[in-house]
Amino acid sequence: MRVVVDLNRCQAYAQCCFAAPESFALHGPEVLVYDAAPPPERRREIERAVQACPVRAILLEVEPEEAGSHG
Ligand code: SF4
Repeated sequence: MRVVVDLNRCQAYAQCCFAAPESFALHGPEVLVYDAAPPPERRREIERAVQACPVRAILLEVEPEEAGSHG
């Protein structure tokens, strides 16, 4: 699983940080830091973060072997 945030799009709304605090954090008012290769068990909360981002800046890429039975 790979996470990419388009930091040009990101407006530091921090919605992702609330949705997936282990994977996203704001350092200061504008700098978003995130885990680009989170463990598979965080997928659900990262999907929440993707949904929560008002500007859709978060991209989630799931490897085929992680995608489950209907991947
Ligand atoms: S929710 Fe979106 S805009 Fe807000 S900090 Fe996260 S990536 Fe940036």
